Amino acid sequence: MPSDHLHETDPPRLLRRPSSIQLLKGFIVLVCLAILGLEGWRDWSEHEGALEETETQMVNLARSLRQHAEDTFEMTDYALAAVVDLLQVDGTSPEALAHLHSILVNRVSLLPRLKEIGVYGPNGEWLTSSSQELVPDRANLNGRDFFIHHRNTLSRRAFFAPPERGRPLGERVTTISRRFNNPDGTFGGVVVASVDPSYFARFYSQFDIGRNGSISLVSTDGTLLSRFPFNGFVRDGNAPRTIAAERASRSPSGAFRFVSPIDGIDRVSGYDSGTYFPFVVVAAKSRDEALASWWSDVAHRGVGVGILVGSIGLLGWRLVIQSRRRENAEAKLAVLARTDGLTGLANRRCFDEQLAREWHRSIRDRTPLSLVIVDIDRFKRFNDVYGHQAGDNCLKTVAQAVSTVARRPADLPARYGGEEMVLLLPGTDAEGAAKVAERLRSAIEALALPHSGNAPKRVVTVSIGTATLHPGPEAPDRRYDSLVSLADHALYNAKRQGRNKVVTAGPENIAA
Ligand code: GH3
Ligand code: MG
Ligand code: MG
Repeated sequence: MPSDHLHETDPPRLLRRPSSIQLLKGFIVLVCLAILGLEGWRDWSEHEGALEETETQMVNLARSLRQHAEDTFEMTDYALAAVVDLLQVDGTSPEALAHLHSILVNRVSLLPRLKEIGVYGPNGEWLTSSSQELVPDRANLNGRDFFIHHRNTLSRRAFFAPPERGRPLGERVTTISRRFNNPDGTFGGVVVASVDPSYFARFYSQFDIGRNGSISLVSTDGTLLSRFPFNGFVRDGNAPRTIAAERASRSPSGAFRFVSPIDGIDRVSGYDSGTYFPFVVVAAKSRDEALASWWSDVAHRGVGVGILVGSIGLLGWRLVIQSRRRENAEAKLAVLARTDGLTGLANRRCFDEQLAREWHRSIRDRTPLSLVIVDIDRFKRFNDVYGHQAGDNCLKTVAQAVSTVARRPADLPARYGGEEMVLLLPGTDAEGAAKVAERLRSAIEALALPHSGNAPKRVVTVSIGTATLHPGPEAPDRRYDSLVSLADHALYNAKRQGRNKVVTAGPENIAA
């Protein structure tokens, strides 16, 4: 329809500057993304911070528990050394062993960490122990690793032995043993102390490591010595213990994170290894518990940020809707302001603006610019005979024909005023304009709209004047409205020559 022509000179969509709605949308999205991004970044860094803090706590806890275990083992060894001294002085006669028994009962009762101290002869046979009732132990140590070690090694140093694998946890005892010699320096036997694993577990239970945390005492070969909680799933070769033992072989103290294959719990662990005895203490807290307060912070802040972003989004959305309504209304008004109400063609104001633009473009690009002015013949009479309403309908029909004949996108049909219409044809020379004008004239005649007062054909006809600007090497100093005057003059000539005619203004009139 005719109003399409009003947009022809708008810049292409891609080249247009972003509208205020697009800017507003972009701004709102940017603000929301910035808030979410900052919050996300802060959450992430605090998340790492919480885990690192837990690692530090676990390493510190492991360090103090390592010191405690070391003290226990040293105290045990100290007791053994005293027993060895006695044996080497008093020998293993029945009287000496009876005396030793009463000393052992006393010693062990003073040291709750110790389960038992036993004395064995050179063939691994039981001699005496710290139990109250002296029931001979039929077990023979011959064949046990630590016994063979002491028999074959002259060293008086203590031997630390993790529990035998495969035993239930309650019976797992860690032993520390020493060799004693006969007065002649030959192998006299072994004194062995066993440390109660539940003693460590009880001690560890006093520390708060959360519901899914654990504290383990492990030998450097990965064997479990004691653990809190003291529960059933502990097995030999448990992966975190193996990891701790393996790490301890590289660095005496440190932290690691690990998902347990047994209970599937992700834990943050710290470990520290013994200085004189081959063991490692591992303290672990479940990752979920380590992050509990972080989660609650995130949840609280998340609600706040959600409300903030939601409010901004909602407000922005309303603003966008309002702006869109306003832009649509403005666009409609802009179209209305440039449209003729009766014919729907561009109005005079729009035409004038477009003519000025095309005039300058034509001179700049050195392309011709043609103007066609159309005037209905004896229209006053038409109104007189058929009435003003019929006159209006006739105007609409002619406007439709003018619009149809304008085929190029840049062509602009417009109502110039009264029953005069114009067709601006950028890039069209005089010959082309004359062709268009003739096509229009014959099309209107072919409509055969009755017009009794328009002799000789007695149908509605139009007279047309055309003028063309041919820019030369020098820009014309005339104003663009001279094109209108020339076309108008040609139209006047067409009327004079009998109407229903096309007259083209001579090129000499306007060539630059
Ligand atoms: P000519 O062939 O010389 O052009 O004769 P004419 O009667 O058409 O003369 P002129 O162009 O001067 O007359 C213009 C007439 O057009 C005046 C008026 O009656 C009529 N007219 C102008 N605008 C309108 C309009 O909007 N509606 C109607 N119905 N008639 C209009
Ligand atoms: Mg007129
Ligand atoms: Mg007329």
